[in-house]
Amino acid sequence: MVKRDFTVKFWGARGSIPVSGPGFSRYGGDSSCVAMRCGEHLLLFDAGSGLKRAGLQIEEEGLKRLDMFFSHCHWDHIFGIPFFMPLYRSSMKVRIWSGHLAGVMTTHEMIAGIMKAPYFPIAPEIFIADIDYRDFRPGDVLKPHDGIVIHTGSLNHPNGAVGYRVEFQGKCACYITDTEHVPGKLDQNVLKLIDHADLVIYDAAFCEKEMPRYRGFGHSSWEEGVRLCRAANAKKLAIFHHSPLREDDELDKIGEDAKAEFPGAFVARQGQVVEL
Ligand SMILES: [Zn+2]
Ligand SMILES: [Zn+2]
Repeated sequence: MVKRDFTVKFWGARGSIPVSGPGFSRYGGDSSCVAMRCGEHLLLFDAGSGLKRAGLQIEEEGLKRLDMFFSHCHWDHIFGIPFFMPLYRSSMKVRIWSGHLAGVMTTHEMIAGIMKAPYFPIAPEIFIADIDYRDFRPGDVLKPHDGIVIHTGSLNHPNGAVGYRVEFQGKCACYITDTEHVPGKLDQNVLKLIDHADLVIYDAAFCEKEMPRYRGFGHSSWEEGVRLCRAANAKKLAIFHHSPLREDDELDKIGEDAKAEFPGAFVARQGQVVEL
């Protein structure tokens, strides 16, 4: 029987740098990596430190094919790549997609650029998986498999970033990180991507009261996530890209405050699975 379910798993929900220790045991310390399973197909979004564990599960399940999509290539979103075991299996087929550097750098050049002496001991030539590097432009509509449609759009982030809207089986999940909002002006690109979405994963590295201190850092707040989800009639909001300074108790409080404003809001927790 063909599998038709659509689930989202958070392998890493932390932003900027992975963290560990007792204050981070419940929401987790690994950086950005989200898996969307659309029936038999696996789509991975970003390759932060959470990717390492995702790779172990993929090996355990014996999956032979997957697609990886990059929001952008800041360190916290890419440094899991060399530690992703499926890339070291000749039986594995991987497509790697990016669009934030369209016209400046190809996806292949981006990956080669992060595994380079003297910053890293091995080059991507060490990978023996069958890798197909794909380039697109923000705004393009991607159809990686029958029945899966992915809309893309530019986000407001230093050096660029791309947001994704994944549609499958009449449901829709969006991956919107990293992005900074302009106060008092809802981002039209984001609104378009998250229109009537079932789940919106949103960059809420900061709280609104912290924003003035961090203007220009390229991140947003959970309060802006709530405003956007309300305006777009989205159902669930996953507060994501947690600040490395934010400990569990503080994230609990943010979760409560956000839920009071928007009942579908929750703080993304490493290991959490959301069924759409
Ligand atoms: Zn980031
Ligand atoms: Zn970034």
